[in-house]
Amino acid sequence: MEYKFCGNSGLKLPILSLGLWHNFGAIDDYNNSREMLLYAFEQGITHFDLANNYGPPPGSAEETFGKVLKNDLFAHRDEMIVSSKAGHLMWNGPYGDGGSRKYIMASINQSLKRTGLEYFDIFYSHRYDSETPVEETMMALVDIVRQGKALYIGLSKYPYEMAKKAFHILNENNVPCLIYQDRYNMFVRNVEDKMLRLSHEEGSGFIAFSPLAQGLLTNKYLNGIPLDSRAAKASGFLQQDQVTAEAVEKSKLLNELAQKRNQTLAEMALVWVLNNQYVTSVILGTSSVKQLKDNIAALSNPTFSAEELQLIDNILK
Ligand code: NDP
Repeated sequence: MEYKFCGNSGLKLPILSLGLWHNFGAIDDYNNSREMLLYAFEQGITHFDLANNYGPPPGSAEETFGKVLKNDLFAHRDEMIVSSKAGHLMWNGPYGDGGSRKYIMASINQSLKRTGLEYFDIFYSHRYDSETPVEETMMALVDIVRQGKALYIGLSKYPYEMAKKAFHILNENNVPCLIYQDRYNMFVRNVEDKMLRLSHEEGSGFIAFSPLAQGLLTNKYLNGIPLDSRAAKASGFLQQDQVTAEAVEKSKLLNELAQKRNQTLAEMALVWVLNNQYVTSVILGTSSVKQLKDNIAALSNPTFSAEELQLIDNILK
């Protein structure tokens, strides 16, 4: 595994991280979740990305992680970076969603209990909340660090202007944003406009989620929707109508190029994201150790010729 400094900080992250959004909930097979976590860690994936609401049901991915940590990995706590987040709907009533100090403080306490951790390495505001002053959300994050409940702060999915403001408030309070998290893959490239550069200029790292467009950038959907896929599962966030003929057509063309590079499409799509100089790490989502192995194998062919990059841009147009 290769490790990169996260922005201007002294913290190194593996260029591949593991996310627990899908496949680690109470509805999933615990042994499979455990095997993926152990395999990832053995391969040097030291960073695990959680959020309060990951499951289903919400909270259960943190519980699964906590159980594996307790039973298998606790001796290795200091070799790991564990992240969690608050921002999306977590519990009923006015205090279980958004960016208020009340929600964020209550949520991190719940997340610490579920995981059995004494602190998170990184704690994120999971989304911008237009109903809460950004100052309030940022000061809650600053205080979380001052209270020792998290070592670093991250932001996710903030509109550009609000991200700028948030970075500024965090800097003023000497708790700079460690890392900015947003969607970035071959199909969704809007962070290339301004966000990647902003996070770099602010001294923050950038971590990409959904690098495979939830599976669309793999060979999974080239011939229909398999029964065991995210798009076919009731609990999956990828909807069947997102598997469009256009996306499949582009994936087929990209797959041909990947084959010429002796890679799977998933491998090529992952190293394409990592090829951006501002990207610190990509967060893998996997449903099996086999996928994890395939994705880690991507690192054996990480570079692109100018011609290949142009070809990819042409396909994606
Ligand atoms: P991806 O885009 O990488 O999609 C992962 C899915 O792609 C897998 O579940 C699997 O689908 C399929 N897949 C992965 N590898 C392969 C392979 N080698 N061959 C075939 N299919 C493969 O990532 P996610 O969308 O899961 O996001 C990753 C992480 O990012 C999340 O776990 C979470 O931690 C974070 N995230 C953060 C968000 C935020 O708001 N900040 C939002 C979304 C994600 P299948 O299950 O069908 O096998």
